[in-house]
Amino acid sequence: MVLGGKMKIIIIGGVAAGMSAAAKASRLNKEAELVIYEKTEVVSWGACGLPYYVGNFFESPNNMIARPVEKFIEAGMNIKIKHEVIAIDVDKKEVTVKNLVTGETFIDNYDKLMVATGAHAIMPPIKNLSTKGVYTLKDYTDGIILKEEMLKDENQDIVIVGAGYIGLEVAEAAKHLGKRSVRIIQLGDRVLLESFDKEITDVMEEEIRTHEGVELHLEEIVQEIVEENGKVVKVKTNKGEYPADIVVVSTGVRPNTAFLKETGIEMLGNGALVIDNHGRTSIDSIYSAGDCATVPHLVRKENVYIPLATTANKIGRIVGENLAGVETEFQGTLGSAAVKVMDVEAGRTGITESEAIKMGINYKTVFIKDKNQTNYYPGREDIFVKLIYDADTRVLLGGQIAGKKGAVLRVDSLATAIYAKLTVDEIGMMDFCYAPPFARTWDVMNVAGNVAK
Ligand code: FAD
Repeated sequence: MVLGGKMKIIIIGGVAAGMSAAAKASRLNKEAELVIYEKTEVVSWGACGLPYYVGNFFESPNNMIARPVEKFIEAGMNIKIKHEVIAIDVDKKEVTVKNLVTGETFIDNYDKLMVATGAHAIMPPIKNLSTKGVYTLKDYTDGIILKEEMLKDENQDIVIVGAGYIGLEVAEAAKHLGKRSVRIIQLGDRVLLESFDKEITDVMEEEIRTHEGVELHLEEIVQEIVEENGKVVKVKTNKGEYPADIVVVSTGVRPNTAFLKETGIEMLGNGALVIDNHGRTSIDSIYSAGDCATVPHLVRKENVYIPLATTANKIGRIVGENLAGVETEFQGTLGSAAVKVMDVEAGRTGITESEAIKMGINYKTVFIKDKNQTNYYPGREDIFVKLIYDADTRVLLGGQIAGKKGAVLRVDSLATAIYAKLTVDEIGMMDFCYAPPFARTWDVMNVAGNVAK
């Protein structure tokens, strides 16, 4: 379908959400004038590759760029890099833009606007956090700088603050580079506290602890960065002091929406723009998606903040369609996500048990340990499955799988099952595929479904 209609569309931010919207809107409405303002020099790149770039799993940072900015411009896309939008007047429908090269500011008008400004790393209240040697891993340049430092021989003791997805992936990166010590310090009592239940994080923690030189500190607070000659040498916590050549702070992200505060646009407490299934914000003609916005949750039936590339791309595309005049809707997120740390991988979808408790629903769970495949084919490993389901209807509400081989992609079947509102009994009999290198005749998900009482 190609739509007509002259209008001016402005998109702020040129990565997953912004470029997905731009690509779709420009394809659907060839008459619309579209401008993308991006404050950095790179667009359309994948931050998800950063830990693997830093860990030297691949060499060139260009591998993370899906399409260079020049290619977009050649294709007729009006992208203004090094341009930051600093204010929006929602009544006049105009944005104030700062050219970061010349320092000049100017006004641009829109008929429809998309805010796709992403998020920034949270800096916790740690003394001397601006010391040299302390880094975050969020932006493209963060990756370049951190890798440069990680590759230096003199930097051997790595401290990671926070054990979420990024913290654990950085731990793997540092281990891959053969660093002398990799220390993960986590305020909470488990790794991946927000996204997985204890049964699964226990599996992850056990794996992390088997690796020589990798230390996991739980329920510990980093209080101070100790410097010598202007560079970090130690971190001080409430429990001890540890040597550090590099400190990576990975304690979560916060939406880049401070410049919208005066507009009266509806936000969550953390600044995430509240959007509906079309990607519409509370202000007419303004759309949003990605790490700066909420996501409608399919099971929780509320707007949540789960900043992931998967949803940024999908809702970005939906916004692109809506910007062009096609009223499509996002079906809702399940918060499906995956992580790998050294030799173990884990995936999750739907709600966790902690979320079920918060929702106050009548739920049950099942947790099993099984094998990923037959015993006679090389590579048999333990695999762990947890299912969360409605105690009355037996409909699946959430699932988490961890293991060394074949764990994560099984979670996609559970996501489909939740979307289709299948019961655990149906999962118990589902025709999952089988051949000796991949599964057992009764796959671990069949077993979990059948064990669910
Ligand atoms: P961003 O990618 O943050 O892009 C926003 C853009 O807007 C930026 O380029 C910024 O410069 C620009 N901008 C901001 N403010 C302005 C302004 N005022 N004017 C102009 N431009 C502006 N997700 C997954 O699903 N799986 C993973 O495995 C995964 N791994 C990750 C690993 C790391 C290390 C990181 C950091 C993230 C990871 N993510 C992962 C999350 C994923 O990268 C993000 O969800 C995704 O990049 C969000 O895209 P976005 O377009 O919303 O925001």
